[in-house]
Order: sequence, then structure tokens, then C-alpha cells
Amino acid sequence: MRRLIVAGNWKMFGSKRFVAEYAATLARVRTSLPGKRFPEAISLVLFPPVAYLGYVLRQLDEQGLVDSVEVGGQDLHAAAEGAYTGSIAGEMLKDIGATWVLVGHSERRQAGETDEMVAEKFAAALRAGLKPVLCIGETESERDSGNAESVVLRQIEQVAARVGAEGLGRGVIAYEPVWAIGTGKTATPALAQAMHRVIRQALAGLAPDLGRDLALLYGGSVKPANAAELFAQPDIDGGLIGGASLEAAQFLEIAQAGRSAAH
Ligand code: PEP
Repeated sequence: MRRLIVAGNWKMFGSKRFVAEYAATLARVRTSLPGKRFPEAISLVLFPPVAYLGYVLRQLDEQGLVDSVEVGGQDLHAAAEGAYTGSIAGEMLKDIGATWVLVGHSERRQAGETDEMVAEKFAAALRAGLKPVLCIGETESERDSGNAESVVLRQIEQVAARVGAEGLGRGVIAYEPVWAIGTGKTATPALAQAMHRVIRQALAGLAPDLGRDLALLYGGSVKPANAAELFAQPDIDGGLIGGASLEAAQFLEIAQAGRSAAH
């Protein structure tokens, strides 16, 4: 059975005060849940701006949540160290307590990251012992021109060619149609499921276990109102949540929506 993952990408939002209040809200909401714990079948992951990563971990620890919520970086450099001013190595993220990292988010691809760079970063994340979330997805014009599937499959193939099926299997994939990110336009559950099925079949073509075991998240304007239906789709194993993850209570409401959907 694949585990459900609900992850929050804070993008470039937050402050120390925001972090402290967020962790306090998570702790308060948790006390109202059955058994005073987050559902065990769901992994919760937060991707704060890297400047706050250590502070997020400290606040989670203070609230007794450090074993319930994992954290990750939003990006990494492909090298382990070097003269790359402003960049962060996967090894550094790992060193300060991160266990996950986003790779190839569309907001970084739009800033010039190529498939080759994304593949190198995915490999770097594995080398550092982090779990990479490979973000893939087509733009509106790629969908309108009938190329959505070929774009998404190309994005996966580039990474598979670099790290092999075994390497790919040590990460997670987030299908995030670019036209749905931060726009309020969510893919319908049927559209999202159809693409997830295509992805899973392609993964099965690389290695049967990969098709069965790799977690596939959906991302793009997920909210409490649409999460349950999306997460109930057979090939959707949770979500990567942007805007709606900036409110702790809303983020947990989305996670709760997944409770009955663990496949
Ligand atoms: C994201 O940033 O990965 C994302 C899906 O954003 P939003 O939920 O705001 O569309």
C-alpha cells in the first residue's frame, strides 16, 4: 500500500513570527484530533524557505511535533559544495535536519531550469540522502496543443536516464499542471487521475515495482473543498499544496481529507 503524503510548499512566504504561530496552530489542532495525533497513514511534510528551515524544526520540536512533521528544502544545487554564491547543497539541507527536497518546481523551471539540470539535482538529492519530490507538469499552451502527456513523460524520462528506475523509486513525483499552480484553476479529479494513470503506466514500463510503489502527488490549487475528491482517485497518493498550506489549520484540513483515501 502506498502511503498518503500531504506536503506544503510555502514558496517565498513566512517570517519567524509566522513559523512560531504555524507550529502552535498545528499543535493546537492536533489536540482536537482522535487520539491527539495526526493520522498515522499520512506523511506530513513542510517546505519552508530555506532561511527558516532550522527555525521550523526548532518550533516543531518545542510543540512536540518534530516526529510528526518532516521538513525539506524547496531547491538544491547539483554540486556538494563549491563557489556557487547564494546556492545550497543537498548535503547542507541534510546537515540542518531536512529530509526532503523539491526538485524542478515549475517556478524554478520558468526561471530557466532545464530537464538536464533537474535530473542533476535529483541525483544530487539522492547522493545527499534526501527524498526528492520531482515536480513535473505541462503549461497551458502545451496542453492546448495536445502535448501534455509527451511533456510530462519527457520530464520523467530525463531523470530516469540519469538515476535509473531504482533511483527514481527513492523519490516521489508531483504532477503539477503549470496552468493550475497559484491560479485557482484546479485540474478536475478526472483529468488529474487520467494523467496520474499515464505516469504510473510509464513507470511500470521502467520497472513493475516502480509503477506499483512510487507515490504520485497532485499539485495545483488544492484546497479543503477539493482535496477529498482528488485524493480519492486511485492513482493520486496525496498532494503538494502551495497557497493553501500557508494556513496551518487549512493545511491540516486538506490532510484530514486524505484520511479515508489511503490507497
Ligand atoms: C505549488 O506551489 O506547488 C502549488 C501547487 O501551488 P498552489 O497550491 O498555490 O497552486
